[in-house]
Amino acid sequence: MTKAIQIDKTDEGQTVTVTDVTFEPLAEGDVAVDVAYSTLNYKDALAITGAAPVVRKFPMVPGVDFSGIVRESKHPEFKAGDRVVLNGWGVGEKHWGGLAGLAQVKADWLVHLPDSISLRQAMAIGTAGYTAMLCVMALQANGLTPDKGEVVVTGATGGVGSVAIALLAASGFTVAAVTGRASEEPYLRSLGASSIVDREELAGKARPLNKERWAGAIDVVGGAVLANVISMMQYRGIVAACGLAGGMDLPTSVAPFILRGVTLAGVDSVMCPQADRVGAWKRLASDLDFTKLEEMVSEVALEDVVATAPKFLEGQVKGRIVVPVA
Ligand code: NDP
Repeated sequence: MTKAIQIDKTDEGQTVTVTDVTFEPLAEGDVAVDVAYSTLNYKDALAITGAAPVVRKFPMVPGVDFSGIVRESKHPEFKAGDRVVLNGWGVGEKHWGGLAGLAQVKADWLVHLPDSISLRQAMAIGTAGYTAMLCVMALQANGLTPDKGEVVVTGATGGVGSVAIALLAASGFTVAAVTGRASEEPYLRSLGASSIVDREELAGKARPLNKERWAGAIDVVGGAVLANVISMMQYRGIVAACGLAGGMDLPTSVAPFILRGVTLAGVDSVMCPQADRVGAWKRLASDLDFTKLEEMVSEVALEDVVATAPKFLEGQVKGRIVVPVA
């Protein structure tokens, strides 16, 4: 028996409770993990509030990520006592997730946590931070280097945005932070942003091409913001798109792609191949400034998760939210 958040669906709609759940010994998956920390990501907020059909099976324990210690393993790659981290793979959507004291998962979904990252830091990074790392890696894989020009990050005060700024600054990039919260300028500058752009500047209908402004971009917003960013990329600029905080649509044209050679690189963290995950966690261990990471973190108890989730949908979350579970 372990304490967990549980989402149920009834004729009246969705209910979410903090309750005791029972796992059969390794009933599902081949590794049992004592969860130390989970976190709240945007997708968890969608699942817990029911704002989007993220949960595919009921009852469901949400939580798309966790860090913890292996309790029991039927797989040779993992043994009791190993420190592990999990992101995605449908956990918290189709398989019981991280917002519980125990997780039973496939060994193929787990990554050994690098020694220099603590279990708490792993979830301070969480899926948002690991996705930010994948975005930086996508920019670099497409040839972006600091000498090419400024890199813009949208949704800057959020989880992906905050970690992306810190990672880009650590790699020597000059970073412009797009935010709707002007009051957070000191926070964004402390993470490494060199300039602040008002989100409103990018909110209108995008023209096919605008004045060339940025060499690279990490976008978590989608919609008009992404369309405007694409229209403002320099010749051969690279855009890593990973989010939809502002909308699913993309009202753009082919002009930036065929006239400026802009590259739009999609980033998915959920089904990302294992080798790329291991590479991303290694890079996080070596590149991320853990003092800056601490500035981004707040903690929410398991009992307060349900009340906190709607804040994501209101654009009110700053940085990363860690949920101690053990
Ligand atoms: P957060 O809520 O922490 O951050 C999102 C930020 O976007 C907000 O802080 C706000 O920043 C900005 N924002 C919010 N609403 C709007 C709006 N309507 N219009 C414009 N800007 C807005 O979420 P995360 O950082 O955790 O996730 C960001 C996005 O990335 C989500 O859509 C999420 O689903 C996606 N994601 C995708 C992954 C993948 O695998 N592709 C993995 C992880 C996340 P500010 O106030 O500074 O403007």
